[in-house]
Amino acid sequence: MFKFYKKSLALLFIFSLSFCVFAEDLVCKTKNGSLYISYTASARQGDIFSIKLIAKKEPRANALCKVSDAKASIVRVGYTKSPASGDCYALKDKTDTYLCLLPIDSMLKPGDFNLKVSGNFDGVDFSKEYPVSVLEKDFLSETIELNASNTAIKTNTSEKRMAQIDKLNKILFSVNKDAQYAAGTFKPPVTSTRRTAFFGDRRVYAYSNGKNSTSAHYGHDYGVPTGTVVSACADGKVVMAEDRISTGWSVVIEHMPGLYSLYYHMSKLEVEVGQSVKQGERLGLSGSTGLATGPHLHWEVRLLGVAIDPDFFVANKLY
Ligand SMILES: [Zn+2]
Repeated sequence: MFKFYKKSLALLFIFSLSFCVFAEDLVCKTKNGSLYISYTASARQGDIFSIKLIAKKEPRANALCKVSDAKASIVRVGYTKSPASGDCYALKDKTDTYLCLLPIDSMLKPGDFNLKVSGNFDGVDFSKEYPVSVLEKDFLSETIELNASNTAIKTNTSEKRMAQIDKLNKILFSVNKDAQYAAGTFKPPVTSTRRTAFFGDRRVYAYSNGKNSTSAHYGHDYGVPTGTVVSACADGKVVMAEDRISTGWSVVIEHMPGLYSLYYHMSKLEVEVGQSVKQGERLGLSGSTGLATGPHLHWEVRLLGVAIDPDFFVANKLY
């Protein structure tokens, strides 16, 4: 009884330390080697599932067996459509490991899912399924009152704004398998911990004309004065640094295939597109440009186009 109690306490401790609970399994075995999988067994709304395929060589085999066409997806039990799917890619710094990160939209209904993993190992096709679950997370609800000028930004359907949205989406949905810059945990972009809005807030925008719209807030807002230093949350490459109608002076950094961080409403940019940045390196100064009801920094993280809670990457290593 006591032993069981101690074990449960230890498990509870491990669980509360990290959002991730990992499971492992042998996926495929040939005469030349074995392929193992390590995956997150549960993830909260707005977090990610992390899937790692690890190839091991038999002592007599000449070389490490190749993994090709490996992909992963989650499918709700009883359904066929997948709300999250992606390809596994070979890690540059761990040649025996293939990684796939799957985003869980903060709006996805919690429940039981199957993680499907398939591909080819050493010339043999494999396909496996594992039960995983999406857990509920609490989100705040808020109403944002927009004055006439902010209403004009939010309802702006000009060609210029639509082109800006298209350009950003093209970046956020692109997956460059060679873009591997960050491996560890992220660091928040400002030293202040004062947040005025949170990831996943269920928002109602009340327009000055009496109409309204609803959406989830895609990032965290830090209530910092204009001129506060903003730094890169992790190593990466700057893929956007420009003034946009809705988000003001904005920076987007690519960290891993399909994984980007975004910084909005800045007053000054100090980086250019194509530049490599290190974690903690200055990107510029915060401000209140674009659609802002006051000075703040909006910090957002996207994986395969889906907004993910930036705190997940602060608490958990990428791999
Ligand atoms: Zn925001």
